[in-house]
Amino acid sequence: MHLEHHDGHEIKHLSELDRRSLLKGVGIGLGMVALGDFVAQAATTSSVKMPGFSAFASTVKVTKGSKYYLIESNGIPAHQMMVGIKSWQEQIPTPQPYSGSNAWSLPIKPVLTTTPISNVGNFLRGAIAIAANGIPIFNALNNRGDDAFLAGELDDFGGHCGQADDYHYHTAPLHLQSTVGARNPIGYALDGFAIYGALEPDGSAMAKLDSYNGHSYKKIGYHYHGTATYPYINGGFRGVVSQKDGGVDPQAATHAFRPPQPPLRGATITSCQNLGNGHFVLTYSLNGETTTVDYTATLATVTIQTTVGSAAPTQQVFQRVTR
Ligand SMILES: [Zn+2]
Ligand SMILES: [Zn+2]
Repeated sequence: MHLEHHDGHEIKHLSELDRRSLLKGVGIGLGMVALGDFVAQAATTSSVKMPGFSAFASTVKVTKGSKYYLIESNGIPAHQMMVGIKSWQEQIPTPQPYSGSNAWSLPIKPVLTTTPISNVGNFLRGAIAIAANGIPIFNALNNRGDDAFLAGELDDFGGHCGQADDYHYHTAPLHLQSTVGARNPIGYALDGFAIYGALEPDGSAMAKLDSYNGHSYKKIGYHYHGTATYPYINGGFRGVVSQKDGGVDPQAATHAFRPPQPPLRGATITSCQNLGNGHFVLTYSLNGETTTVDYTATLATVTIQTTVGSAAPTQQVFQRVTR
């Protein structure tokens, strides 16, 4: 059974931008290469268009650095979350600091590797891809080899929250296809290769895929596809990625604001309303009783008011680690 959530999220490391910021802070005597690199990065702060992401330009910002596209979002999708989860551990969606030096990084020039790495038993920490709406996508398998979708851990859109109350998908966000358009990617693997939906970018039926859910197709070159069955998304990386602490490096970090919650067996989430400005109301039923979790989350503070049945509400306030 699922006594522990499988997403270890506390990945603390220096992203490319962190390192550059540090270099800048330490002084200018560190060499022209590093400083020049930083200046080149900092000079490019205006948004660039990227297929897929541009359909979500109001909530997802893409900028171009020297090696990476940097993807910024607050980690909250426009669609309903949480409804449909059968195995819930009381995590709730909260806005995330995926911006500035903690943005998601995609190589500008993806490079095929001669030593691809499968997702099976690898990349169990953090994301392996980012959806066009700025939501991270995690390995479909957990560290026990369980498929999160088949285990009932996911909502109707293939997502749920991790230990940092961070919403993410574990399957391909095929539901984004109608927004991005039939010929645009629904996301990108963290090796930089695009993830398309059920069709090829030229509109024809999807050609045969390799075991990583990808292939080289005509002049488009290597890319992945999202599928309704395992591996759902990129089944690993056919492109060059760096691995660190069991995850792809660099990637955005999240921080838990409370200890892991126990599984709430038998709970059915009936709604999760996003009222805007970080205010959400989630309701669930358990043993015939309705509980309302009314919460407001900023990047600094989370205030949760819980009302069980007709009892008086209880309130908890948590401070979050800010970067
Ligand atoms: Zn997860
Ligand atoms: Zn294809």
